[in-house]
Amino acid sequence: MSLNQSDILDVVIVGGGLVGGLTALLLAQGGVQATVLDAAPILDTDKTKSVANPRVLALSQATIHLLKTVNVWDKLARQQPYTGMQVWNKNGYGEINFGHESSKTPAVENALGTMVEPSLLNLAIQEKMLEQLQDYRTQVKVTRVEQGVGVWIIHLADGTQLKTKLVIGADGANSFVREQAFIDIDILDYKQAGISCAIKTTQPHQHVARQIFLETGPLAFLPMASLNPEQEGYWQSIVWTLPDDYADEYVALSDAEFTQLLTRESHHMLGEVVEATPRAKFPLKARAAQQYVRNGLALIGDAAHVIHPLAGQGVNIGCLDAAILCDVLLHDKKRGVWAHEQTLQCYEHRRKGQNDAMMHSMSLIGWMETSQLFPVVWTRNFGLKQVEQHTALKDAFLSQANGLQILKDTRYAV
Ligand SMILES: Cc1cc2nc3c(=O)[nH]c(=O)nc-3n(C[C@H](O)[C@H](O)[C@H](O)COP(=O)(O)OP(=O)(O)OC[C@H]3O[C@@H](n4cnc5c(N)ncnc54)[C@H](O)[C@@H]3O)c2cc1C
Repeated sequence: MSLNQSDILDVVIVGGGLVGGLTALLLAQGGVQATVLDAAPILDTDKTKSVANPRVLALSQATIHLLKTVNVWDKLARQQPYTGMQVWNKNGYGEINFGHESSKTPAVENALGTMVEPSLLNLAIQEKMLEQLQDYRTQVKVTRVEQGVGVWIIHLADGTQLKTKLVIGADGANSFVREQAFIDIDILDYKQAGISCAIKTTQPHQHVARQIFLETGPLAFLPMASLNPEQEGYWQSIVWTLPDDYADEYVALSDAEFTQLLTRESHHMLGEVVEATPRAKFPLKARAAQQYVRNGLALIGDAAHVIHPLAGQGVNIGCLDAAILCDVLLHDKKRGVWAHEQTLQCYEHRRKGQNDAMMHSMSLIGWMETSQLFPVVWTRNFGLKQVEQHTALKDAFLSQANGLQILKDTRYAV
């Protein structure tokens, strides 16, 4: 099929999930309409809102700020701000605390961050895309992405071909765009799996996110909003990182055996675990694309990097990718330049080193926290104690985690 110059789109985003959707909305706000292609169907609003998702995302202040910038924030049906974080070793002496407990639900501005069910965030972004975008297509199958002369050509299963000056691959961990652009990835198989489900405890969580390092791996208790107002404050989402064989064994337990195990392993910290929703198990692998950009193509979010869920930072670093990419694109567009090689290199330069460092530090912490070697046990206990005793160090950790520093020199600065 032959296309003339006017058929060339400015930008096509493959993947309209959390990160791709945010990117499209930031670009629309900057006066650039992206074509968004997503493989999934439109979410059913009532069904999505009425079912509790067993998993939550811990959103940083930077992500919250970006969602407010594109007016997605007010569309979120539920979220659970948290004011404290507690991390400790079960068989050691190290412990670290950030923030404080809170018996009442705090305003998100006064919180360390907030917990949101991914389905609700997807729904809110999707509703906004339907309002704001002129070309948002769902249930689309991309069959080929190929580089032409000065353009990329995207082939769809229905025979349509789209020509564009810029392809943004936001199509998740198994990115087809990444594969089609021949960008290699480094994979680190942790030989671990995560188990996730929602649980109810007999004592309230007091808006504190907790993480215990067990011999087998970290177990996180993350406060979540409840569908039932009478049970507000008692529900949490757990993410338990385990060696593969333990994960298989724990998934096969009956609900009663599993809740008893959780009560025991968490040292009854919130009384007893009395209810648990069905458990989901997922393999854990870190992935890092060797390049984030090619001429006229950029990868963002999980398409570029997947990190250990230990830090709860995956979507947050993806949203920072979106912000930096949009910032450099819109900055150069003002000068009459669109998606130039140097613009894209600038995006890669500002994101890849930071994301790789985050990935490696999470892998190191994951290894240190499961190691039983005495020097490692000593170092981790000593490290946690040192951080706990130094306010400046804790402030530095929090500042790194909230992501606002990375937005500082951009149009999205707070
Ligand atoms: C157990 C667990 C806990 C986590 N907890 C946290 C947390 O607390 N905080 C946090 O920040 N992160 C967390 N993460 C990570 C977070 O979920 C991901 O980083 C985030 O969802 C990535 O967003 P994304 O938009 O890049 O990719 P995705 O959310 O995977 O979206 C990809 C989109 O692309 C579409 N797509 C895929 N293939 C194609 C194709 N070929 N054509 C068109 N469309 C396509 C999909 O339909 C989807 O809409 C966690 C992850 C796990 C597994």
